[in-house]
Amino acid sequence: MEDKKGSLPDAGAAAALEQAFRLVDLQNKGIRSSNALASGRRGGAGPTDDAAFQFGGQTVMLPVFNGPAEDSPYSLLEGEDGFKLQFEGKTLMYLDPVARPNFYDLSTADGIPYNKIAALHSSDVLASTVIQSCIRWDPNDRCKFCAIGHSLAAGSTVAKKSPAQLAEVVAAAERLDGIRQITLTTGTPNETDRGALHLTECVKAIRKVSRLPIQVQCEPPEDAEWYWRLKEAGANTIGLHVESFDEDVRREMMPSKSSITLETYFDAFEKAVAVFGRNQVTTYVILGMGEDAEKTIVGCSRAAALGVYPFVVPLRPLRGTMLEFAKPPTSAYMDDMYRKVADLLSAASLSSADSMAGCAKCGACSALPSFEKNKAPGVMG
Ligand code: SF4
Repeated sequence: MEDKKGSLPDAGAAAALEQAFRLVDLQNKGIRSSNALASGRRGGAGPTDDAAFQFGGQTVMLPVFNGPAEDSPYSLLEGEDGFKLQFEGKTLMYLDPVARPNFYDLSTADGIPYNKIAALHSSDVLASTVIQSCIRWDPNDRCKFCAIGHSLAAGSTVAKKSPAQLAEVVAAAERLDGIRQITLTTGTPNETDRGALHLTECVKAIRKVSRLPIQVQCEPPEDAEWYWRLKEAGANTIGLHVESFDEDVRREMMPSKSSITLETYFDAFEKAVAVFGRNQVTTYVILGMGEDAEKTIVGCSRAAALGVYPFVVPLRPLRGTMLEFAKPPTSAYMDDMYRKVADLLSAASLSSADSMAGCAKCGACSALPSFEKNKAPGVMG
């Protein structure tokens, strides 16, 4: 399977399918690697403990720093001609890590390094957690999969990014590294606007320096007018992350956040789609937390029918989280769920290619885009 650097091993359909399954397996098991990877990220909100790689013509995020990666059958061998991906010691292909971006070398006038304000995700997404604290970050109530408080405690980020700081970093990352979209997420600061107010201010400031598409991500705000305010400020898409469509799993894994019920989420989906449009609202769905597969598919189907893209990802047991020692889902389960969700997307005429910004557009944390029928250019499978 080893081939010329940077190319697919085989352009045939069977090889493409094998590549898609390999990606599923890699995202579950991770890669044993040296710490030489300059672009990896540890801690923070969302999937982390990972690094970005060029894999068969697309960029993917693969776990390299979490527990499962330590025991993975996959490893990375650095040689003179680049990094080789090995499975149980046998070389499969070249796997180039995405280079450290240039904007990481800059600091604001008051001395804050740009990479404490925003990070490069995948190869062309600038991402920032605009409020790094969360009312749910309590030892008994926090979401068991989340690491948002750890990077703040480690000093690798700042608690609240100002709109001006973000605009400054966006301008530099667009100029120096050619970023193509922006994702702004937030911890939940209160139970009213849930971070939408600060997101709105940040988007307004970014719009003064950039026309790049922006996704905002937050819990559903109490007042649905926030969707209009975010849209009018310049946000193109919104992520409302349900995390699981199994209410029992939500209560177990998110003791505090599950107070926002699934029905509240479905109501929010409808209101957000009325503002942002079909295919411009996404929801993160983590698989492998003990969920009922049928309830999950029913939930994804209901979301897709409303015009919401269910971005399914495998559980990443992150360092320092309450699920640090959990096992990721099996690759066979993920493969089956990806196929079913891809069919739902197709039936609802939704696709990552038609999303303007955010996780569905980026797709690097999930193999779902590889299973879609209407793929974006460059996506394999
Ligand atoms: S899918 Fe979302 S969280 Fe993952 S790298 Fe892309 S923008 Fe970041």
